[in-house]
Amino acid sequence: MNKIATSACTSCHKIFPRTKMRLVSSYEKSGSSKGISTNLATKKSTRVSYRSYSRKRERWVCYSCYAIQLDNQRKSRKVGWILSIIGFLLIVGLMDRENPDDEFNPITNPDRFIDTQEVWKDKKN
Ligand SMILES: [Zn+2]
Repeated sequence: MNKIATSACTSCHKIFPRTKMRLVSSYEKSGSSKGISTNLATKKSTRVSYRSYSRKRERWVCYSCYAIQLDNQRKSRKVGWILSIIGFLLIVGLMDRENPDDEFNPITNPDRFIDTQEVWKDKKN
């Protein structure tokens, strides 16, 4: 009887058979190297090489943790959307408010301010 390979889930650290898990692979930069390679046999070709290494990282994640991860990704994308919508509404709201404020602002609209003072004087007399 074949034994099914097991792995520990990187999220919840429980051990599951790999048939009930998902292999999640991601690439991460592990560094870079500069090197000079000389072909000693011919002594003619000297190569300067520069390369950056990105390491493939594979993690076994059980189905329930994978589902949670996907859900979190979806939620953070949704939060990003909501934040950008709120930001947009705030900007629109500030632009909308500029006009009525100016109307009663004595600095930007002195004529109207004087008018209202005159009206008050009239009412008192
Ligand atoms: Zn798990």
